Amino acid sequence: MRILKFWGTSLGSHEMIEKAADIVVQSKKKENVIVVVSAMSGVTDGLDKLCELAKKGEIDKVLSRLVELREKHDTVARKICKDSCDINYVNKVQEYFGNLESILKGVSLLSEVSDKTKAKVLYFGEIFSAILLALAIKQRGIDSHSYRSKDLIYCDGSYLNGEYDYEKSREQVERFMKNISLIKEIPVVTGFGGGDADGNIYLFDRGGSDYVATVLGRLVMASRVEIWTDVYGVMSADPRKVKKAILWDKLDYAVCAEFALVGAKILHPKTISPVQEKDIPVYIKNTFDPEAFGTKICSMKASGVKGISIDDKQMIFTFIDPYMLGVAGYLYDVVKVFRDKGVSIDALATTETSFSISIRKKYYTRSLEKAFDHMREHFRLSIRDNVSKISIIGDSIDNYKILNKLKDVIMVSKWAYDKSLTVFVEQGDSEKTLKKLHKEVFGK
Ligand code: ADP
Ligand code: ASP
Ligand code: MG
Repeated sequence: MRILKFWGTSLGSHEMIEKAADIVVQSKKKENVIVVVSAMSGVTDGLDKLCELAKKGEIDKVLSRLVELREKHDTVARKICKDSCDINYVNKVQEYFGNLESILKGVSLLSEVSDKTKAKVLYFGEIFSAILLALAIKQRGIDSHSYRSKDLIYCDGSYLNGEYDYEKSREQVERFMKNISLIKEIPVVTGFGGGDADGNIYLFDRGGSDYVATVLGRLVMASRVEIWTDVYGVMSADPRKVKKAILWDKLDYAVCAEFALVGAKILHPKTISPVQEKDIPVYIKNTFDPEAFGTKICSMKASGVKGISIDDKQMIFTFIDPYMLGVAGYLYDVVKVFRDKGVSIDALATTETSFSISIRKKYYTRSLEKAFDHMREHFRLSIRDNVSKISIIGDSIDNYKILNKLKDVIMVSKWAYDKSLTVFVEQGDSEKTLKKLHKEVFGK
């Protein structure tokens, strides 16, 4: 059995949904399939905006945007059904839009949107796209229904960054598999998150549908997971930034996980772990060129540098105190502040009397800033907010050679696990730096 996941832009238009349905039907000829979908392109951002508008009490705008959102999906549905009307689709969509409208009216009345409510609202994008893709598959003469991952993947933790529970999910998925016939039907499952027994939704952060695909792959012990996207596979750099980026036909799990972890957008950071432990291969494939091989991610002996990624939106905090020397607990005190404020630390470098911590700029909140005011009593604190993070991914990286090629290095973080080298530099023209470094490392 295969898991096929389709991305937002592959489901961004009627043509792309038809393309995805063709790919699914072709795959079904080889093996049974379960499909996982993200929302149509732009829909998650649109739903996020609706939460904001509702919170501000702008209910008229919310209602008119809901009409537009409905029309966007209905237009595609009409084209899929060649201008006839599928009563099942109409009933389902009517019910879900009704639910969504009620939730947003509630937000507007309370002038408040909790994480719990926001997760529920954002998840609707995946519900609508799953219904559409199932409709397109049905038009090809194969039975297909949409299902919600919240009934399969059991989660807890925080609503916008949930944790999945393997045992409880396994029981739910076993029940699901007993009740459907994969020979007769192609199930289309929503991506993005899971749920609990009370019907709450837990999202896996933005881009989380990749993770839903590999979690399901692990739960059903799929023969492979295919992530269908808009590029040919994992490349030595983001092909939108480096035109001559090299395409890898095979990559080791650990190296690929590193691509995701350092922030290369190609995969959600958690994607690899569920499948790695069971040696289930992941293929990255191009929806625009289905015959192309793509990248196979599997267990293999890796060697050399495989990629470079740059993130411009970083900040570095440096804490200095000569009295730190030999004293226990300094680092703990500072890290605890980040934890208490719910801010995830990206990289860390220490000496006996100082340490530097990097975070993504979007996590620098007013409450963290306030906490720092207190800390200035104990530390000399310097903050740099114009920093780029350059990550070199791969095995046996020649650190000295790389560092020699970079100017204005502020901080270096080398993971003991040895799958990447992370260097922070003064923000300049990061695309130029990426292209230059790519040429020096890969000769292109
Ligand atoms: P999806 O909507 O399918 O989840 P994403 O936009 O999340 O797609 O990921 C695909 C994008 O990732 C590509 O369009 C590409 O620009 C970007 N990307 C970033 N780094 C890489 C890389 N090293 N190799 C390939 N693509 C990359
Ligand atoms: N639709 C969600 C997002 O835009 C999840 C995903 O695309 O994987 O982040
Ligand atoms: Mg993605």
